Amino acid sequence: MKLLSTFAASPYDIAALQLFRDADAASAATLLAHCPVMLAAAGEVISSPASPQLVIVLRGALADATGDGATTRILPGESAGEQSVLDGEADLSGLKALEESELLLVDADLAWRLIEESDGVARNLLRLLSFRIRAASMQLRRRQKLGEFYRQLSLNDGLTGLYNRAWLNDVLPRLVSTAHATRAPLSLIMLDLDHFKGFNDRHGHLQGDGALRLAARVLAGALRPADFAVRYGGEEMMVILPDTAGPVAAGVAERLCECMREAVVFDDMRLPLPHITASFGVACLLDGGDDHALIAAADSALYRAKAAGRDRVAVAA
Ligand code: GH3
Ligand code: MG
Ligand code: MG
Repeated sequence: MKLLSTFAASPYDIAALQLFRDADAASAATLLAHCPVMLAAAGEVISSPASPQLVIVLRGALADATGDGATTRILPGESAGEQSVLDGEADLSGLKALEESELLLVDADLAWRLIEESDGVARNLLRLLSFRIRAASMQLRRRQKLGEFYRQLSLNDGLTGLYNRAWLNDVLPRLVSTAHATRAPLSLIMLDLDHFKGFNDRHGHLQGDGALRLAARVLAGALRPADFAVRYGGEEMMVILPDTAGPVAAGVAERLCECMREAVVFDDMRLPLPHITASFGVACLLDGGDDHALIAAADSALYRAKAAGRDRVAVAA
C-alpha cells in the first residue's frame, strides 16, 4: 500500500462514513485529521499490521474472506477491523482490494478515543457488530442445515429414501447392544422381491425402479414409528423391529407380505396389472448373538421362503 495523504488533506467527507453517521462530525474530523489515507492496488492483500486497526474504505472495494469460502464486500463508507480493535487481536488477514482502493487507517488507540468521545460512534459500532453477529449466526445455521442435509443424504438410499447399508452398519450393532443390555427382544425381517429380474425384463428398468420405490413405500407405510426400513442392496430390503419378539415380528412380516401383494404398481389401467411379491425371512436376536448372526438367520429363513414357493414368510428356527 502507498501513502497518499492524511485524512484532513483528502477530498473525502466524514458524513459519508458509516461509523460517523449522526455523530458529531466536527470533533470526529479533528481526531481523524492525521490518519493516513492509503492506496491499495487491485488484488493487493491488506497485510495485517502488528497492532489492531480500523480500515475504512473511502473509494473502491475490499473483499473480506472469512476463511471458510464466504466473502463479504466492503464498499465505500463501510469498514473492517472493528472487532480487532475491540478485542485487541490484530487480524485483518483475508482483506483484499477488489479494485484500486483508497483506505483510511485508524489505529486502535484513536478508535477507542472516538468511541469514548462520541456516543454516535459507539452507537454505530454496536449496531454494526450486532448486524455482523446476526449475519454470522445466520450463516452458521445455514451451514448446520446443509451439514444435516448431507448427513441424511449419506445415510439414505437415493432411489427409495430408505436407510442404506452405511446406516445399517452404524446403527444395527448399537441396537443389538441396547437389546442385550436392556434384555429387550429385537427382530429383523429380510425380504427380497420375487422374480424381479423378470419384472425388469418385461417392464423395463425404469418401471423396475418405480416398483422398488413402491415396495419401499409399502414397508415405510406399514411400520410403527420405532421401526426402521433399510434398502440392503438391489431388491433386498430389511425391517428392524426393536422391542419386538419373534411371533409378533412374524405377524408383521405376514402383514407386509400381504400389503406388497396388493400394492398397485401402475396406475395406468391399459397396462396389464403386474404385481410385485416378496419373500420374507424373520429372525429374532438370540442370547449373545451379534448383528451378523441376526442377519444371517433372517437371510437363511428368507432362502427357505424362496425355496418353498416365494410370496411367503419363513421364520428362523
Ligand atoms: P428371486 O425371486 O429368486 O429373488 O428372483 P429375482 O429375479 O428377483 O432375483 P435375482 O437376484 O436373480 O435378480 C434381482 C434383480 O433385481 C436383478 C436386478 O436387475 C434387479 N435389481 C437390483 N437392483 C435394482 C435397481 O436398483 N433397479 C432395478 N430396476 N432393478 C434392480
Ligand atoms: Mg436378490
Ligand atoms: Mg429377488
